[in-house]
Amino acid sequence: MAMTRLVVTSTEDVTPSLRRIWFHSDDLSALAGFDDQSDRYVKLVFPKAGVELPEGLSMRELRIALAPEDLPVVRTYTAPILDITGGIMAIDFVVHGDHGVAGPWARSATAGSILYADGIGGGYRPDPSADAHLIAGDDCAVPAIGAALAALPAEAEGQVFILVESAADEPPMPAPHGVKVTFLHRTAGQSLARAIREWPWPHGRVQAFVHGEAKDVMHGVRPYLLKDRALPLADTSISGYWRHGRTEEGFRQWKSDLAAAEGNN
Ligand SMILES: Cc1cc2nc3c(=O)[nH]c(=O)nc-3n(C[C@H](O)[C@H](O)[C@H](O)COP(=O)(O)OP(=O)(O)OC[C@H]3O[C@@H](n4cnc5c(N)ncnc54)[C@H](O)[C@@H]3O)c2cc1C
Repeated sequence: MAMTRLVVTSTEDVTPSLRRIWFHSDDLSALAGFDDQSDRYVKLVFPKAGVELPEGLSMRELRIALAPEDLPVVRTYTAPILDITGGIMAIDFVVHGDHGVAGPWARSATAGSILYADGIGGGYRPDPSADAHLIAGDDCAVPAIGAALAALPAEAEGQVFILVESAADEPPMPAPHGVKVTFLHRTAGQSLARAIREWPWPHGRVQAFVHGEAKDVMHGVRPYLLKDRALPLADTSISGYWRHGRTEEGFRQWKSDLAAAEGNN
């Protein structure tokens, strides 16, 4: 299927480190599906500087048409706002400095900037029958956490932990009355793992959604939830969204090495 062409219509700063970019497309039909998943994500395709992508091609066809050094870079982003009929999509990008492709692109994107999307996925939605929800992540997971909170029933109970740089980086995060939202600050040395371990564990069935920096999540939080708290896998959505010091390509390799090492245990 051909990639979806996206044109930036406007940008807004949700916080100093989180930039919402609004896109228009004449045809978003390739991104249909997964509406029922609150963590719905798209693969965004960033052309290399000076390389014009031929229109109407799929990623597979591009890999044949272009020299390896001209191939675009693919990054994964949550798509909480996606109106297929209206041709509108919005993505919240963490603006994390000069390194990488997507973060710097988002910082400098203006109306008229062009991007492509190739594929959509998702795998979590809060289960209204859970007795309590543990929802946690860092800035990258803010869009998915916001969508999860919007999907919770009004009577839901639980705890949200969100790790951001400092108080200035706290986005608005409306939640049902029984769900407490706690922001943690890197500048204060706080961490998701510590906050989750210190959280008084509730009675009943807990469903957990935890995503953020991969080492924090996979080494700091996952063993606690799966082993110490014996959460069944079916009640968890836990994974890294990015990895310190690695590009998304390097991070994919880290994940596959981790999976292989765990498979050998
Ligand atoms: C399912 C899924 C959904 C995601 N949703 C979102 C989303 O909605 N919004 C969002 O901003 N991100 C989201 N991410 C994370 C995003 O894909 C990564 O942060 C990605 O690496 C950014 O690409 P880049 O080109 O900016 O940096 P890369 O080229 O991948 O990395 C370059 C350098 O930047 C560092 N880096 C990457 N991300 C960050 C960060 N967030 N903070 C600090 N340093 C970083 C890397 O460690 C590396 O050193 C999601 C990831 C997944 C798997």
